[in-house]
Amino acid sequence: MERRARLFVVSGPAGVGKGTLVARVRALRPTLGLTVSATTRSPRPGEVDGVAYHFMSDEEFDQHIEAGDFLEWAQVHDHRYGTLRSEIDACLARGESVVLEIDVQGGNNVKKVFPDVVRIFVEPPSWETLVERLTGRGTESEESLALRLQTAKRELTLADSYDVQLVNDDLDEATENLDQILEKYETS
Ligand code: 5GP
Repeated sequence: MERRARLFVVSGPAGVGKGTLVARVRALRPTLGLTVSATTRSPRPGEVDGVAYHFMSDEEFDQHIEAGDFLEWAQVHDHRYGTLRSEIDACLARGESVVLEIDVQGGNNVKKVFPDVVRIFVEPPSWETLVERLTGRGTESEESLALRLQTAKRELTLADSYDVQLVNDDLDEATENLDQILEKYETS
């Protein structure tokens, strides 16, 4: 069966578990390319530069925008996040599909410049579950948590604009579903 490297975007509100899901699928599909986003926010404890993100100053981020280095970038909460074209091009050239875990604005921007992208929206089983998961993480201040909840609510209304919707209720089941979605689009 013919297989082609594809660009996938996985979005969903903070706390929906998309990071865990994507990490699980990576374990199942070791050939998936890994790209690291750039951000102007500071590293959280345990986050390593060049692994979690390319952490950069506002000035550095501006320089990359001016140079046209970003496939997309967006302001999320108080900071800017962006995907460097070089990261994606390198993977696709090696025949590796790429999964970008980016916010909804970023996903929409990618669609404009990369119409072949497959966008997958991860939804919580319910609003209450999402609030519980976000509150339980304990890494955010109260103000930051309120902001994330507000953003989450707005993002959830955009789920239908995505190509595929995936509910993350049972993690094993959601992982299997995501794996099948990638398989389907790589081979279709
Ligand atoms: P966090 O600060 O919790 O790591 O991420 C906050 C938000 O930024 C998440 O919704 C995440 O998906 C989004 N994000 C991470 N990397 C990128 C990127 O390269 N581009 C865009 N547009 N959003 C990103």
